[in-house]
Amino acid sequence: MIPYGRQTIVQADIDAVVAALTSPFLTQGPLVPRFEEACAAVLGAPHAVASNSGTSGLHIACMALGLKPGDLFWTVPNTFVATANAALYCGAEVDFVDIDEETFLMDIKKLENKLHVARRAGRLPHIVAPVHFSGQTCDMAAIGALANEFGFKVIEDACHAFGASDGGVPVGACAHSDIAVFSFHPVKIITTAEGGLCTTRDPELARRMRLLVSHGISREAETFDPPADGPWDYRQVMLGYNYRLTEMQAALGLAQLPRLDAFLTRRRAIADRYDALLKGLPVRVPARREGALSAWHLYIVRVEAARRRAVFEHMRAAGFGVQVLYIPVHTQPFYRAKGFKTGDFPVAEDYYARSFTLPIHPTLSDDEQESVVAALAEALA
Ligand SMILES: *Cc1c(COP(=O)(O)O)cnc(C)c1O
Repeated sequence: MIPYGRQTIVQADIDAVVAALTSPFLTQGPLVPRFEEACAAVLGAPHAVASNSGTSGLHIACMALGLKPGDLFWTVPNTFVATANAALYCGAEVDFVDIDEETFLMDIKKLENKLHVARRAGRLPHIVAPVHFSGQTCDMAAIGALANEFGFKVIEDACHAFGASDGGVPVGACAHSDIAVFSFHPVKIITTAEGGLCTTRDPELARRMRLLVSHGISREAETFDPPADGPWDYRQVMLGYNYRLTEMQAALGLAQLPRLDAFLTRRRAIADRYDALLKGLPVRVPARREGALSAWHLYIVRVEAARRRAVFEHMRAAGFGVQVLYIPVHTQPFYRAKGFKTGDFPVAEDYYARSFTLPIHPTLSDDEQESVVAALAEALA
């Protein structure tokens, strides 16, 4: 089976992990801060805090921004459940903004309309979390302008978008947001097996997130009040978690980073080639936002809803790991139990009924890609 996404592991990755494993530190050593600094440099962010998953990154981002019970958190239905769940961990209430039919990203017009309604009702969200779905960036300038007007915080769910950019500015620079959150799950752009990273321009948010990944414990003796009892002293100043990345994971991330450009170049070439090879087939290829450069985590095609299941099954039977991403979060049983129902977000539901991703990862060969397209042509014939 050729999967829809797959990690790229070479000898340099293996050597780096083994070196970490045989070093004095398996956790809380020098490699995690080194990985954070290297990511910050690539992403154009002054601060980066690593965590043990994208999910825990989303959680500490919500906590650092003070999300609390009763607050509202808005995201899109077309995302992995983790985006919305992070807000529920904080006791907040989740609501959704439907997606744009062309880009599958948060519909800015719908966001604006919903904000006006919410302001009249006195129920503005504390946080809005757009998702850079498939690696394509949302219009963050527009979302940032609305954040200023309506006074909400912005978390970018950038789990698909390590290396993506808009107008030459990398996702993660947080030009129009408070925090951006990345995932290093093996199907994502670079991997640490499990792992995540939050970037921010705000040193105070960075400080809080750093505390939150490690029990809320500070070891910065110069900040202690009353002063430190001795060199052993540590102070728990908030309720945190053990969300730490290990040294082996950071070593893997550090070994992957120098190949980021090669990964992105290959993903972009595959996407361009799919666009060309699929011409003439009854599928809609993904739209591209003007000026933005996608990381191409996914390559989503849409077919007639009535044919999607048969096409999907044909592709799987032919050995291609096509995948449907995402089942709209509001239609999950857990979210239905909160009152959401089919019909609430029709664009995300229609998207879900027609779409699937074709295999796209740096190790997919030209021959394999041609066989994917041949199987798709057969499925649609
Ligand atoms: C992968 C992913 C997450 C969660 O990341 P993990 O590292 O798997 O915890 C969150 N949001 C989106 C959009 C993702 O794709």
